[in-house]
Amino acid sequence: MRVAGRRKSWIFFLVLGICLTALAIALYVGWILLSLEQIVFLVLGVIFFALVITGLILNTLFLIREIRRNEQHNAFLNAVTHELKTPIASIRLYLETLQKRDVTPEKQQEFYEVMLKDSDRLLHTVEQVLQASRTREQKHSGVSSPVELNALLLQSIERIKNRYDLDPPAITFKQPDHEIDINGDAEELEAVFTNLLDNAVKYAGEEVKILVSIKDNDEKNVEIRFKDFGIGVSRLELKRIFKRFYRVHNAETQKTKGTGLGLFIAGSVVKKHGGKIWAESKGDERGSRFVVRLPKTIIKKV
Ligand code: ADP
Repeated sequence: MRVAGRRKSWIFFLVLGICLTALAIALYVGWILLSLEQIVFLVLGVIFFALVITGLILNTLFLIREIRRNEQHNAFLNAVTHELKTPIASIRLYLETLQKRDVTPEKQQEFYEVMLKDSDRLLHTVEQVLQASRTREQKHSGVSSPVELNALLLQSIERIKNRYDLDPPAITFKQPDHEIDINGDAEELEAVFTNLLDNAVKYAGEEVKILVSIKDNDEKNVEIRFKDFGIGVSRLELKRIFKRFYRVHNAETQKTKGTGLGLFIAGSVVKKHGGKIWAESKGDERGSRFVVRLPKTIIKKV
């Protein structure tokens, strides 16, 4: 579908380019052949000229968009290759050490733990790529059942704490004193929360400090907020970061490996659930806040 769509737009712009060239030649020849005093031809000439210019602008915009896309695809391929290669190389090294040397039982345990972490990282990357293609294909979520928000958030926080070996105070969750049910696919929603928390850790700067809170004073919706005090996002990038493969080009982001899929997946899942997601930040180095707004399960009164 997607390939066919892109081919169609290529054909459109190719035909447009050929037509514009023909028009430009006709205009040029006409201009010379016809007398300028003939007002009709002058008007026609101006209209054609305006058309040519508009077409050229459209063509240039299209080319710029394609070049950007290509760059993003290349960066994505590099990032995924790196994310796949690094843990595999590490696991291999530990296995070779275990095979060739006498290692104490304590060291063995340590090695197993590192290998488990590496395989988790591997699985995470593969899941991200699979989920991104799944999200693009299916419009509606398959599974939909009541999900308790507090429990799901606690589970996601635990997962991230384990992934990055974080101390308990690194992530604070201001849990409300009541249960909140939302309708949806627990697995997909957990992916949204873990992606946001994962980013908050990755882009935390010097010290990881994350605040998770829930705003529940609306009958229909609930807001989940993830606040960090890290590198922040500039105003221009606040919307772009939700695009597929998009990564901010700055020294801090380049230091951190990523695929540019996390926020795209989060955005697609939230949209499928009838919600909204957005980012807020006062700019570079001033932290950021990601807000997910989801519709609550309406409990029918009997
Ligand atoms: P990835 O983290 O794999 O690059 P994402 O789609 O999760 O991809 O994020 C896209 C971009 O948004 C990141 O590359 C980063 O530049 C920016 N970003 C996301 N979360 C944060 C955050 N909490 N603080 C600062 N920048 C962020």
